[in-house]
Amino acid sequence: MPALTPEARQKLAAYLRFQQELGLERVRIAPDLGAAAAPAPMAAAAAAPAPVAAAVAARPAGESLEAIQTDLGPDCRRCKLHQERHRIVFGEGDAQAELVFVGEGPGADEDAQGRPFVGRGGQLLNDMIQKGMGLRREQVYICNVVKCRPPGNRTPEAEECAACSPFLLRQLRAIRPRMVCALGATAAQALRPYKGALASVRGVIHPLRLEEFETRLVVTYHPAYLLRDPSQKREAWKDLQLIMDFLGLR
Ligand code: URA
Repeated sequence: MPALTPEARQKLAAYLRFQQELGLERVRIAPDLGAAAAPAPMAAAAAAPAPVAAAVAARPAGESLEAIQTDLGPDCRRCKLHQERHRIVFGEGDAQAELVFVGEGPGADEDAQGRPFVGRGGQLLNDMIQKGMGLRREQVYICNVVKCRPPGNRTPEAEECAACSPFLLRQLRAIRPRMVCALGATAAQALRPYKGALASVRGVIHPLRLEEFETRLVVTYHPAYLLRDPSQKREAWKDLQLIMDFLGLR
């Protein structure tokens, strides 16, 4: 194996520390470490495309994120979440990202800064993206189902999700990612309604159809849940590996 550059060494150390946090005790070094990784075939996809197309506000394909944000407006009052929010958290990242992460809604830190996932959960999401997947945060796009903070970080109500999710779906159609990762139940329900436990829809790659645009969806646990129950990090890591295989990142 060729000697590692200091930068590669640092990345490897961060990756191994991340794996240790997941509970990993041993690593196996593949003899052909330098060989290019071929994208793995898609994992068994669940049955039908997600029935969310009807919820996508009919807009021309190819609109820009800026146009969507302008349409949302600087003082959106489409639901009652406007009453206590400080900042609308539209989303951030690469407007042409191959991978989009969708969370539930802003928390206190996000409400104060106007940026998604900048609190404790955001730090874990950063680790998942950077140390786990080897990407930079700026290479992906990060947004939420609802763009305003639910008071006390409660779960957004159905009518709040209904008012805001057309903007999420337009964001996805504008970015056209190859893969969407739903973080937690609210995001999963907005993109692929299901009954029962979140565990029943994670661990596979689902087709996701948004009008003319078809992409893929992986559902995993929300970082806030992983902070409360770190034993589930290993399962979340399996979901990220599905995404990495699909995108050819390993
Ligand atoms: N939790 C979310 O779902 N989204 C954020 O932006 C922050 C915390």
